[in-house]
Amino acid sequence: MSWISKGAALALMLCACSAAADPSRPDPVRTLPSAVIDPSFAWFADRSDRSIAEELRHYGYRSVRYIATRPSGARAELVKAIQAEGMPVILSVFGNGVYDTRDLPEGWQSWKMRQREGETAGYTYLCLNEPEYLEWTKKVLADTVRRCGFDAVEIVEPFWPAHGGPEKDAYGCLCSRCLDRFRKEAGLEPPEFTDSGSPRYWKTDAGRYRKWVDARAGWLTEFLNGLVNGPGGLRKACPGVKVLTWGIASRGVSPALMREWEGVDGADIARRVRPDGHVVQTDWPDWLDPALPPDYVLEYAPYIREVRRARPGLPVLIQTDLGSDRKMLRSDEWMEACQTASTRAGALGVFGYMHSLQESIYKAPLRMLSHRDEGAAVRIILNKWPSPDITRNEDWLAHGARVASVECDGCTVVVHLEDRRPGVPVKLSWKPVTDDPSRRWFRDIGGPCPWEGPAELVLAGSRPSAGRP
Ligand SMILES: [Zn+2]
Repeated sequence: MSWISKGAALALMLCACSAAADPSRPDPVRTLPSAVIDPSFAWFADRSDRSIAEELRHYGYRSVRYIATRPSGARAELVKAIQAEGMPVILSVFGNGVYDTRDLPEGWQSWKMRQREGETAGYTYLCLNEPEYLEWTKKVLADTVRRCGFDAVEIVEPFWPAHGGPEKDAYGCLCSRCLDRFRKEAGLEPPEFTDSGSPRYWKTDAGRYRKWVDARAGWLTEFLNGLVNGPGGLRKACPGVKVLTWGIASRGVSPALMREWEGVDGADIARRVRPDGHVVQTDWPDWLDPALPPDYVLEYAPYIREVRRARPGLPVLIQTDLGSDRKMLRSDEWMEACQTASTRAGALGVFGYMHSLQESIYKAPLRMLSHRDEGAAVRIILNKWPSPDITRNEDWLAHGARVASVECDGCTVVVHLEDRRPGVPVKLSWKPVTDDPSRRWFRDIGGPCPWEGPAELVLAGSRPSAGRP
């Protein structure tokens, strides 16, 4: 049994005793295993929404997290296709900035965070103290949730940069908004973060620095509280839609030190924002480690405990990474062990970024997960994209019908049949192919993977009437 099917069994038990926003679908917060997808990746492109949904469903997932790096581009059709497979869909949006600035209104440049030195490449941090950014985010969230019909929303990565704290160039935010707000609220000049000779230097004036640390943690919680509970926030704009907040953790670092560095106070968020679920994210020094043991999540237990103490019974999940870097692709066995450890750490379970990055995408044999007999067409659902060679008609044999054409729809092979007669079983067989390495994120890892298992199907004699149109 894979980690995914074990998770599915767990999900069934959990769903039985939890209320869902939409009674026709399981609770988006508690239902695991949860697939993370970013549909802008090649894995999810050039295929039908239905094929994405059936791949995830037959892979064993029971809920889906839809990462929208640009919420205006989130596709309602894909959300509906996934929901049609019985899986709730969670919108995952970034809290402290954007990967893509195209949706931001004119003048957005003034919303930017100021980091101690330079800027982080590839991501635009936006200041949590900018009221216009808060209002814009509220509107984007509400519009996207309503337009696409998401079951839940999670605000991913709301932290202030950065791991390692003020020693790091990426440390922020030191924009005039934040500095002025501190002056106003604390009645003090902010700490100095560059000139070590200053009497206000953060290491020299510990009392001043402590006030600064508390202030930025409070501002972060306030930002999330505004998004969720404020006027025009998610609770009012999207009643019934579940909300998850995110914190962040790191091995060998206490929750208090992480709060100092990145301003996330899990207990305060749980108490004031009152989310329906909370996710503890794995910070980069951990996930980037190729030798990260799967039970590293046991070290996250203090992060889970502090949230649970603040709100007993709140579901807490752990987020990990499955393969954003070529040196740390996680295997099914690794993920299964991590899932087991996550429950020992007090979490409901773990989910990983993301489905199409895990090791099996590069290394597992190609195989059939399931099929759907729709009479004139048979949809054969595979675990990966097959080589386009699978569409060669001459490599297919049918008894009891004729193969008219074969098309590839992502990980689904659609076989169109003719001359099928009621009551006559059809036997289909085909020449095994390899998978298609061109859809992988890292194109140079591993060669084509061979077919494994049966390359034939027997379809029952009576034409099913319950097939999808
Ligand atoms: Zn700022």
